[in-house]
Formats: sequence, C-alpha cells, structure tokens
Amino acid sequence: MCGIVAYTGKLNAQDVILNGLSKLEYRGYDSAGISVISNGEIKSLKRQGKIKILEEALEKNPLKSHIGIGHVRWATHGVPNETNAHPQISMNGKFSLVHNGIIENYLELKNMLEAEGYVFKSQTDTEVIPMLIEKFYEGDLLKAVEKTIGLIRGAYAFAVLSSDEENRLIAVKHSSPLVGGVFEDGIILASDVTSVISHSKKIIYFEEDDIIDVNNGDYTIYNKGKIIDRPFKETKMSLEEASKENYPHFLLKEIHEQGKVLQEGLSIRIKNNKIDLGEGAFSSSDLKKFKKIYAVACGTAYHACLAIKYAMEKLLRLPVTCEVASEFKYEDYFVDENSLVLVVSQSGETADTISAIRKAKDLGATTLSITNVLGSTISRITDRVMYCYCGPEISVASTKAYTSQIIAGYLLAIDMALKLDKISDDEVQKYIEEIKKIPAKIDEILKDEEDYKKIADEIKLAKSIFYTGRGLDFVTAKEGALKLKEISYIHAEAFQAGELKHGPLALIEKDTPVISIATQNHTMEKTASNNEELMARGAKVYALGFKENNLLKASSLEFIGIPKTIDLFAPILAVVPLQVIAYYTSALLGNDVDKPRNLAKSVTVE
Ligand code: GLU
Repeated sequence: MCGIVAYTGKLNAQDVILNGLSKLEYRGYDSAGISVISNGEIKSLKRQGKIKILEEALEKNPLKSHIGIGHVRWATHGVPNETNAHPQISMNGKFSLVHNGIIENYLELKNMLEAEGYVFKSQTDTEVIPMLIEKFYEGDLLKAVEKTIGLIRGAYAFAVLSSDEENRLIAVKHSSPLVGGVFEDGIILASDVTSVISHSKKIIYFEEDDIIDVNNGDYTIYNKGKIIDRPFKETKMSLEEASKENYPHFLLKEIHEQGKVLQEGLSIRIKNNKIDLGEGAFSSSDLKKFKKIYAVACGTAYHACLAIKYAMEKLLRLPVTCEVASEFKYEDYFVDENSLVLVVSQSGETADTISAIRKAKDLGATTLSITNVLGSTISRITDRVMYCYCGPEISVASTKAYTSQIIAGYLLAIDMALKLDKISDDEVQKYIEEIKKIPAKIDEILKDEEDYKKIADEIKLAKSIFYTGRGLDFVTAKEGALKLKEISYIHAEAFQAGELKHGPLALIEKDTPVISIATQNHTMEKTASNNEELMARGAKVYALGFKENNLLKASSLEFIGIPKTIDLFAPILAVVPLQVIAYYTSALLGNDVDKPRNLAKSVTVE
C-alpha cells in the first residue's frame, strides 16, 4: 500500500530512485529497498525502517547502474522485515520486482508454484509475481509479464527487471496508481506524481491495465494487446499538493478513499461469497468456549467497538461488554479464560489498549485485534489479528480506519454467528450481498459534498453542537461529535435522543445546531418526535436518515438523505456525511485540519 519508483536513463539510477522514494515517505511505510542491473546481474539492497537507513547502507555499498527499481513498503502480507521488503526476487535471481497493492489469489498461486518446485523466501503476497515471471520467461520479459498478469488477481502496480535484458524495464498498472515522466535524462515511473515532478512537470497518468515497456531508452504502452498513446499532462502542483492528490488536506482525501479501500478490504475477506477471515478466524470449537465477549479500544476505535457490540449481540445473542481501554485495565470486568477480548486500534501501538490486552492475557482470556498496521505491537501480542487493509491513514482524525474497523468487526460477528449455528447460510448471503454494496453507496453519499459543506458553513460559529440518536444511531452520533470536536475545536456532544428531556434539553437555546441521526427503523418515529421537541425549543435540527424519509424531512430544518441499507450497516454510511461536515467546519475555520492541536496520530503513552 505504499509505493514504487523505476528509472532508466543517463543518471545514476540509485540516486534518482532514492530521491523518488523519499517523496513517497509522507504515505507512511515500514521498509525500503532497491534493485539495479549491473554487469548482467541483479543487485539489491533492502532495509527495514526508514529510507535513511537504506541510504546509509547504499553509501557503503553503492549500486551503480543506469537502470533500477525501488520500493517503500507498507506491509499487508508478512511482517515488516528485510526478507519481506521489496524488491522481491525470483528463485533463479534473474527477476527483481517491486509491487504496490495486494495479490488476492497469492495463496493458490504459491501452492501451485511450490508444487512445481519453486522455493519462496518471504511471507509476502508479492513474491508469486517474480516467480511466475521466471516460470513463463522464454527470452522476452514482456511476454512473461503478460502471461503472469493473466493469472494474478487483486490490485497491483509493479515494475520488474530481468538480468537477461539489461536495458529493459516493464511496469503494469491495475487498480493501483502509476504515473510516468519522460525527461532529457531518462524515464521515470512511480506510484505518485511527487516522485516525478522534480524531474518533469509533464506527467503521463497511466490507465487501467496499461503495460509500459521501457526498452533501450524508449517506451511503448500496451493495453489489451494494442499499442496506445497516453497524453502528457502538465502539472502545476507543488510537491505538497501532489502528495495530497489534489485534495487540500489528507483528511478529505482519506474520506474520499473510503469506497475504494473498503472495496479492497472486502475483496480480501469475501471470496466466492464466503467470509474468509484468514488468521483472524476461530473454529466453532474455539467459539463454543467463549461465554463472555469484551470489545475494548480508545477514541474512534472505541466507537467502532460500540457498533461491533451491537452486531455481535444481535447475531450471537450473547452479551458483549464494551469499554474504553484506559478504564478496562483498572476495573474488574469478570474476565476469565472463557472470555474473548476484542481490541481495536488503527496504529496497533495505542498504549492504553496494549495495557488492556496485557490485563486480559493475565486473566487468561483469548485476545483478538483489529488493526491497520501489520507487525504493530498489538498485532504481535494478541492471539489473533484481523487487518483493516485501508492503507496508511495520515490525518490525525480517523475516518477510513473507522469504517474499515466496523466492517472487519461485522464480518467477524457474521462468521462467528454462522459457526455457532445462530444464523443460516441464507442469512449470511443476505448480509454479504448488502455489505458488498456499501463502497458504491459511500461514493454516492460523497456526491452530495456541497450540501454538507453548506451545513458546515451554517454551524461553524456555533458555541456548542449536539448530536443525537438511539441505539446504533447513537454510536454514529458519538463518532460525529468526536470528529467535529477533534478538528473544529467546537464543543460537540452526543446524547441518546431519549435522554434529551432528562437533562440536556436545558442546553438548547435559539439556533443551537443539533444533528439527529435516525436510520434505525424501530426507533425512527420516537427520534422524529424528539426532533420536534428540539425545534419547539429553538434548535436548528439537521436530520440524517435514509433517503425519501418524509417523516424526518417534516421534523427537521434540513434533511441529509443517505442511500438505504439494512439497519445494522447504517453506521458505516451515516458517519460519512458527518465526517465531511466536520472536515469543512474545520477547514472553513482555517484550522490545521490534518494536525489538530494537542492530538497525536498514534497515542503511545497512557
Ligand atoms: N502486499 C505487498 C506486501 O505486503 C505490497 C505492499 C505495499 O504496497 O507496500 O509486501
């Protein structure tokens, strides 16, 4: 999920590649590596950690060449270490490859290749690609690459070198980004414009399934077997703008990425309409042992736990205790060896959550984590792990990690319920059908961005903003309020809609903005009445619910309509307009959106 750079030309490839990789650093990565062809051989150097460490190693052992490929890795398959770092090399050492993305069917390909005698060194999904290229190679790298991409499935942008063809470099783009620049001193291909613009402001944006064959200083682009031309587009972007892919802030970019990354995550977890949790999966006998379930996390991840609790209680008919990690470790929650403790943390390094895991383990519980960072402390110390697969999240306020955490937890709940015979195969199919539609619905919601911006403009000067909802809608209300307070610094608080008249209603003044979430069918009418009560006391009520809801339209000042889904999945969609409203409120106030005051991305102190 990080990036690649490939270069051939008059300059020293190592320098161009290192410079290109350094421009990808902002994306977050865990290791870096480079390969060149020198004297008819592939020469490589890889290091875990920062590019600087690789640079220092290269100073001692420079790789001189006119052609090379480089990578910064953000591990998805296999922990971050030197062996798993890219480039990945084929068994005969003649093919070196860097890959950005995920190969979904790597396991079956790996089994097939192993049966044919290929020996793998890494735990990565990527390693199957150079192996397949070696298998198919008959003197023409392009032909071997074409055969290989006929077999691999998933998202990939890769670049490959062959020591038998010293002046050739081939790259392919499929669902992962790839751009190129042609300048006097050579040709550079990279995952991101940032790596190209220091050499060339004229950029080629490759399109789906383009194969770029760079041979003897010239290049040819193939698509579906035909040679095609791609125009150069002049970019006026600065380096900083380019790293945000034209979005003014990472937060907005990450909000917009949600459809795509959730789709990728689902394609890893749902295969042939069956849930496949990989290492996270429990067997039914494991599951029968659990008499108590706990869901523990901090901040936004805690809100994901609240949604997961609902799903588990509904599907498993088992009570789930949800607690913030900093409380969990001090209180007695009756955790024992028959307990499952689920923890959620984007970074996998959250100190409070780590302490909670230690406590759970001391008490004999089984632990399972949902985290976004492979090889993180939490992924290592929990008994099992499920990854979010949503790519590095740069902005401090979490958005795409939240929605992907909920999806991971929901799939876990559905898988557990099926294995415990609490739900039928047919019901599982119903959930799978519906969850697959979520990414496209998020994209649809984001088409109404201007409407949410208008709301942000209306609320940006408010002293306090309240969010209300019942049940799962209260979870969304809590997350909406947290997002707003984190980045806009406006006091925002969530209340259960039914609790308003037991106290919070006293806070309502003329024009106090209230965002009322009402997606859950069984509580809709009650919440609509609460909205009337709020408006009668002068509140400006913005109601959020499924489209075409006349009741909510009638009982609010403005209605935010989102596409229909089943009630259980509503939090994944309903939070999106709230993320955008929080974003624009902060941006319109001129705040440092991506780095809000007093907060850190990874909270490594208790
Ligand atoms: N899936 C590959 C790996 O885990 C590539 C990750 C990346 O894009 O950095 O090695």
